[in-house]
Order: sequence, then C-alpha cells, then structure tokens
Amino acid sequence: MISAGAWSGQDVAGTLRMPTDADHKYSRGVVGVRTGSDLFPGAAVLGVEAAWRTGIGMVRYLGPAGAAAAVLARRPETVTAPGAVQAWLIGSGTDAATRTAAETMALRDVLTGEQPVVVDAGALDLAPAATAPLVVTPHDGEHARLRAALGLAEFDAADDAAARAEAATQTAAALGGVVLLKGAETIVAAPDGTLVRVRAGTPWLATAGTGDVLGGVLGALVAGAVAADGPAGADLVRAAASAAWLHGQAGVLAARDVGGGPITALDVAEALPRVVAAVL
Ligand code: AMP
Ligand code: MG
Repeated sequence: MISAGAWSGQDVAGTLRMPTDADHKYSRGVVGVRTGSDLFPGAAVLGVEAAWRTGIGMVRYLGPAGAAAAVLARRPETVTAPGAVQAWLIGSGTDAATRTAAETMALRDVLTGEQPVVVDAGALDLAPAATAPLVVTPHDGEHARLRAALGLAEFDAADDAAARAEAATQTAAALGGVVLLKGAETIVAAPDGTLVRVRAGTPWLATAGTGDVLGGVLGALVAGAVAADGPAGADLVRAAASAAWLHGQAGVLAARDVGGGPITALDVAEALPRVVAAVL
C-alpha cells in the first residue's frame, strides 16, 4: 500500500526490474499500442519510441496503417502483427470526431478486455464504459471533459493544488480506475483514496508530444508489472507514479543536455534509458 505523498527515485527503483539470464522478450512484457491517426501520426511514433526506451520485451503497434508506417520507419523492431499483450496503451493522437467506426470498436474491445489499459487523449471519452483495469492520463482540459462525461461537478483547475488533487480522487472513484492528472505537478489518484504527487519535471516539458511519450513509458511499466505479477497483482498506482517520475527526470536530463534550453518530445524519449539505468 502506498501512502499519500511525494514519489522519489527510490520508489521508482522498486518498479523497474533489471533483466536476468532467465528472461526472454515475453517474460519482460509485451505492450499493445493503439494510438495515432492520419492527423497525428507522430503521437504513435513517440509513444512506441518511449515504450522501447523504458525497457520492454516487445511493442505491438496495432493502430492505423499510415501511423504504422511512420512507427516502422523510426522503429523497425516494432511488431505490427496481432498477438498476446500484457497491457494496452490507447488514445494518444486520436480524436473521437475523426476516428473510424472500426477503430472505435477495436478500442472498445480493448477497454472491455482482461488486460490493464492506459487511456490517453482521444480515447478518454470511451473510458467511462470500460471494464478493464484502467489508468487514464488526462491533462487539466481533458480531465474537465472526463468529469463532465462522468456527471461530476466542474471545478477550476487554476484553484489550489489541494482542490485539484481532491478532484482527481473523485474522478478516480467515479471511474473505478487510476487517474494520472498531468501538469507541473502530476497527481496520481486511485479509487481507494490513495494519492501520490509527482514533481520531477521541468517547464520545458510544456511542448507538443510529451504527453504521448508519457503514455509510452506508462504502457511499458504496466506491461512489465503484469508480466511480473499478473493482471490482478499489477500495481497501477506504482506504475503511474513511476512513469510520471521517469518522464519528468528524462525531461530534466534532456534540457540539461542542451545547456538548460528547449527540448522536444523525442529528446525526452531518447533520454529515458539514462534515467532508467540510473535508478536500477
Ligand atoms: P500533454 O498535455 O498530454 O502533451 O502532456 C504534457 C506533459 O508535459 C505531461 O507529462 C505534463 O506533466 C508535462 N508538463 C506540461 N507542462 C508542464 C510544466 N509547466 N511543468 C512540468 N511539466 C509539464
Ligand atoms: Mg496529450
């Protein structure tokens, strides 16, 4: 059980596992990814890149063909054939208004399956109907829309941090899933009232695509946790808080690499292995 409070590198160390001689790609976890669209193919590339860079046995990318081509151009090791996965990442770079009916059905299948699902961006509208174990990853604007879909009261995200955390806890309870509320302070809230605050980043992370990178990190951590502990044993709060911490630290490292200056989302993904190696 995690107590309320701040998440640190030591906490993250307990989430990551150094591969051993006994490992093979399947034992290290397989994450299935349905992200990206013709409008936002880059979101698929960023999430897949981040999942690989977090340390995972396999990434299966099962999104639209155009985005798949972009993913393979960057990461030919990505598997595009369907097959077993231990966790899903869906929604980054998708948009409910332009999604095809077939893609919506595929997302619904994932959300009513057995494996835990990380739900971002355009798939958040489908989260209230989910039965699979969930972690949703809204920013404040997406959180407001999700709350409206759940019939929860409006609240002002510009309010104090305590109100924001309370709202996230309320959303988690209504949803029956873990909420990772992104921002300068990231809040991880669970339906049972568990609350973790993560402050590990830099304001340079306020740039397009960093949320897609976070999704990839989290998808990889959840798949790794399920591979180690099974779907019921996987600690989604731990995975979510650790993903936010690794992502924030990767942002700090990437900014340091350029003398404390601007970074892109891909820089953050590329900095991940050094952060992972440092905490293992
Ligand atoms: P998204 O809005 O989905 O692209 O996600 C943005 C990512 O950048 C999240 O992981 C946020 O926590 C992070 N982020 C955004 N703005 C800031 C900020 N001002 N300081 C630190 N992290 C931020
Ligand atoms: Mg986003």
